[in-house]
Amino acid sequence: MPTKYIIVTGGVLSGLGKGIASASIGHLLSSRLKVVPIKCDGYLNVDPGTMNPFEHGEVFVLDDGGEVDMDFGHYERFLGVTCRSKWNLTMGKVFDMVRKKERRGDYLGKTVQYIPHVTDVIKSHIFDVAREEKADLMLVEIGGTVGDIENELFLEAMRQMKEDVGRENIIYIHLTYVPIPHGVNEQKSKPTQQSVNLLKQRGIFPDIIIGRCSEFLSKEIRVKISNFCDVHPDAVITGLDVDDIYEIPLIFEKEGLPEIIHKTLNIYSPPDLRKWKELIRNIRHPSKEITVAMCGKYTKLEDSYASIVESFNHCSAHLGCKINLEWVETTDLGDTSFLDRVDGVVVPGGFGSRGTEGKIEVIRLARERNIPFLGLCLGLQLAVIEFARNVCGLKDANSTEIDPDTPHPVIDILPEQREIYEKGGTMRLGAYPAFLKEGTLVRSLYGSSEISERHRHRYEVNPDFHDAIQEKGMVFSGASKDGRLVEFIELPGLKYFVATQAHPELKSRMETPAPLFYGFVRACLEGC
Ligand code: GLN
Repeated sequence: MPTKYIIVTGGVLSGLGKGIASASIGHLLSSRLKVVPIKCDGYLNVDPGTMNPFEHGEVFVLDDGGEVDMDFGHYERFLGVTCRSKWNLTMGKVFDMVRKKERRGDYLGKTVQYIPHVTDVIKSHIFDVAREEKADLMLVEIGGTVGDIENELFLEAMRQMKEDVGRENIIYIHLTYVPIPHGVNEQKSKPTQQSVNLLKQRGIFPDIIIGRCSEFLSKEIRVKISNFCDVHPDAVITGLDVDDIYEIPLIFEKEGLPEIIHKTLNIYSPPDLRKWKELIRNIRHPSKEITVAMCGKYTKLEDSYASIVESFNHCSAHLGCKINLEWVETTDLGDTSFLDRVDGVVVPGGFGSRGTEGKIEVIRLARERNIPFLGLCLGLQLAVIEFARNVCGLKDANSTEIDPDTPHPVIDILPEQREIYEKGGTMRLGAYPAFLKEGTLVRSLYGSSEISERHRHRYEVNPDFHDAIQEKGMVFSGASKDGRLVEFIELPGLKYFVATQAHPELKSRMETPAPLFYGFVRACLEGC
């Protein structure tokens, strides 16, 4: 069977959940097909690694060290695949490739143009991935909204692709918005019509339209969209607003999306949603409830911590408990009374000094009051600083990232990072193994002595202080193979005081929640 292609575009406005829609489509088709997702982003950064999470949400990190769009988190969680950084194509990467080719003389004698040279680079990148991965189905999501100048070249490349791969091997799915204006109280198709027109002007004629709406699309609106946009009425699908993104594949299945795709692409891969449905039922009908304080500095934008939120959803599905997240901004932490009403505290990853003193204070209180605590990356570093200051008596201990002149640099830059001044993709990135100490809580949670988690950091626990810290009772429960880099810490005797230099939230899946989150939620439940 030749590789099939599904191209997903978006219209009307951003934020309609194109990534989740694409991931859900992939989920529904992956029972018998190898589905490989590609995301095309129109910005000129080579990758999102240098962007503030406020700009672009969470930076997702892959096993191979790629810093990629947060949609890859959805792809991995919905498709059960391990993605590669090559699958995220940004316009920055495309121009970089074109420029390198031009300097190498690949275009000697020619004027290098957007069409065909830039579009050819886009297409051949996608075809390379399809070949390398032996993909049955390539799922290509075009970031942004049709009409944006940034994604024009990607759309043009997608238009051309139908000749390259054969018209029977490619379909176009367009996600739009169907509003129900207040006072009018009926579903409106005009934004969809206009957005489809924009797409048609670019030579792309959608086969399937997904209309995001607060209600299921009525028969009338389906007929209207079908008439105006030249799609079969059965190919007008509701993209229902839901509280829980894991319901989207179920909605699409109910709307008959898999059958339409099977028919139009001539493939067969019936979805098996039994396990998925069972887990979602647990989320919908929890028997217990806990509240967790998330202490960060990007708390105004929950997308910055998307994988952590999902990791908690996975725990909800397995433990049948509702997990309320209370977002605590630590920049000017004054009132700490929230600690009286929460069952546990998470200090997530982060960079720079803003908010760190507030987090250290929260960690101190969590330790002293025996409130379950989970620290992730920066969370581990701050837990070590707190312990060094208040238990080891190292006054003003700090990380050199926060205070370069600290008298006790318990957290210091990794030796291999000292001479690195370039910013893109230069941190310690991707999956690294850790070896877990026998008899520790972390080892029992993972159920294994050697594990692998993903990383994104420049600093570490300073080896000069290992002995002083361990002598006072902090256990280094996991380390790199040579024992130098502290990967996990814990405080025995407390209900749950665990932190890691890694980002276990990046590998949590619906079917297999991240062990440290699972253990943390269980500890929170015990206190209820
Ligand atoms: N800023 C810290 C470091 O670079 C922690 C990074 C993180 O939390 N991802 O080591």
